[in-house]
Amino acid sequence: MSTLAWVHCGRCHTARRFRFAPVVSGLSSLGTKAECASCSHVAFTMVDGRRAFCPLCDGFERIELVPSSVPGAGFACCSACGQLLAALYADLGSWSAARSPNGLRPEGSSQP
Ligand SMILES: [Zn+2]
Ligand SMILES: [Zn+2]
Repeated sequence: MSTLAWVHCGRCHTARRFRFAPVVSGLSSLGTKAECASCSHVAFTMVDGRRAFCPLCDGFERIELVPSSVPGAGFACCSACGQLLAALYADLGSWSAARSPNGLRPEGSSQP
C-alpha cells in the first residue's frame, strides 16, 4: 500500500507535498492541519486522526478515503455528505491524468 504524500493545493493550483502540523502550536489534541509544504495553504483540518472539518456540515465529520480511478490517487471525502475535502496523490507519475481541478469527483468515473 502506498502512502498518499501529495495533496491538490487550492492556492498553488497543483499537487504539492503536504505536511501535518498542529492547529495550535504545541496542542495537537486540538486538531491537526494538513497544509501545503510550499505555501502553507491548509488543505483540510483533522481531529482524532480520522475526522476532518467539513464546510457543508459545518462540523467535524469522519473522513472517507475514496480511491480514484487513477492508480495512486484518492479523495478525502466527508462521510456524512460526500463533500470532497482534498485530493490526495501517492506520486506525480499517475497524477497528470486527473489534474483538471474541475474534474475532481469522488464518484462517477468508474472507468478503468
Ligand atoms: Zn500551496
Ligand atoms: Zn459533510
